[in-house]
Amino acid sequence: MTREARITPLHKLQPVADTVAEKSGAGVASLEARTAAVAAMAAACAAAVDRDARFPEEAIAAARAQRLLGIMVPRELGGEGASLGDVADVCYRLGRACASTGMIYAMHQTKIACLVRHGRSSAWHERLLRRICTEQLLLASSTTEGQGGGDIRSSAAAVERNGSRIGLERRATVISYGAYADGVVTTARRSADAAASDQVLIAFVKENYVLEPFLAWDTLGMRGTCSAGFTLKAQGDIEQILPVPYDKIHQQTMVPVAHLCWASVWTGAAAGAVERAQNFLRNAARQSNGQLPPGAPHFMKANSALRTLRSLVASAVRNYEAVADDERALASLDFQTTINLTKVEASELAVSVVLSALRACGLSGYRNDGDFSVGRHLRDVLSSPIMINNDRILANVSGAALLSALPAGVQV
Ligand SMILES: Cc1cc2nc3c(=O)[nH]c(=O)nc-3n(C[C@H](O)[C@H](O)[C@H](O)COP(=O)(O)OP(=O)(O)OC[C@H]3O[C@@H](n4cnc5c(N)ncnc54)[C@H](O)[C@@H]3O)c2cc1C
Repeated sequence: MTREARITPLHKLQPVADTVAEKSGAGVASLEARTAAVAAMAAACAAAVDRDARFPEEAIAAARAQRLLGIMVPRELGGEGASLGDVADVCYRLGRACASTGMIYAMHQTKIACLVRHGRSSAWHERLLRRICTEQLLLASSTTEGQGGGDIRSSAAAVERNGSRIGLERRATVISYGAYADGVVTTARRSADAAASDQVLIAFVKENYVLEPFLAWDTLGMRGTCSAGFTLKAQGDIEQILPVPYDKIHQQTMVPVAHLCWASVWTGAAAGAVERAQNFLRNAARQSNGQLPPGAPHFMKANSALRTLRSLVASAVRNYEAVADDERALASLDFQTTINLTKVEASELAVSVVLSALRACGLSGYRNDGDFSVGRHLRDVLSSPIMINNDRILANVSGAALLSALPAGVQV
């Protein structure tokens, strides 16, 4: 069976599909069942998490109980060696139930991917990866700083070095679930005399830092991510700095994995909205002798755009996995442009899917109450174009796109 089968078609998602079990044996099948258990908990708490802008503690506790936090860690370090495709599936399923839970999982896995790929030559990071599996530690991410917005390739705060010890103090404008995480993986300027773009990535565990809150998180959507602003004050050992310069980590892992996992969550959230529109239409048809309401064409638009979105994300995951071991391919203008444009395209499509689902449901979708409300889905998915602002991304890649040749054919 091809990788295509891993991203399960919408109509097969419940009950848990057998396709992966047939393909990969009990291990992956059990991953699917474990994910379903976490997704059920996330769905049950989604409305309260959104209403109260609170951390989805029940769903994350379930993810820990189902041992989902360390699945991407190699088996020899206590993980399951799950592929990015497997993780993208989990992101989709959790995102469909509760986008905040899905996004927390996606951000955590992006940090794990960085540690797995770039921390293997470091005993400290290997120990951390083992701890993540045994203790099911949750890692947060800190890249946004001061007024820098989504300019991840620039840091203000610098690592202070004192022998084998390091210190860092940064004004981290947004750290999702920072107050609930067991560790934070942060960018920083290499040293006080380094340029803003000469960055390193550092893993700190909770014992290493304090977070002083300075900005609350009262937002339209993604309320459960609890992405408050903190002054991060950290102390640690020099070996906690990943042994690879951040520019390489950024290109090879951070950007591709973040964009693919986020896009999987948005696709899941969009699928959740389409599911509500489908239920609305079924219900309406039942009540009027099979007559579909006038909003039905909007459901088809939503359905069609969701299919396009899913194929876009599935093929981008496949493309990344195909070149993941090829540093030159990952660094190529073509790959970097494609992975950035995938994020832009996926986020815009996800918004349009949910808007079409809203039109299909009419007032029942617009209401905040009732089984057919898509208010939460819409508010959540509206974060997608600004989570690394699409305008910034488009401005950054437009030069490269001007230089790249257009495709010679449909399949090449
Ligand atoms: C749900 C959510 C969770 C998040 N979690 C985290 C987290 O855990 N850790 C973390 O570090 N960050 C996090 N972030 C922040 C994120 O990484 C970005 O920093 C943030 O989304 C940038 O938002 P912005 O639109 O203000 O960005 P900016 O990039 O500052 O953009 C501000 C404005 O300037 C415009 N603009 C910027 N650059 C250009 C350009 N080159 N050309 C044209 N226009 C431009 C944009 O259109 C926008 O209107 C999170 C964001 C969201 C939405």
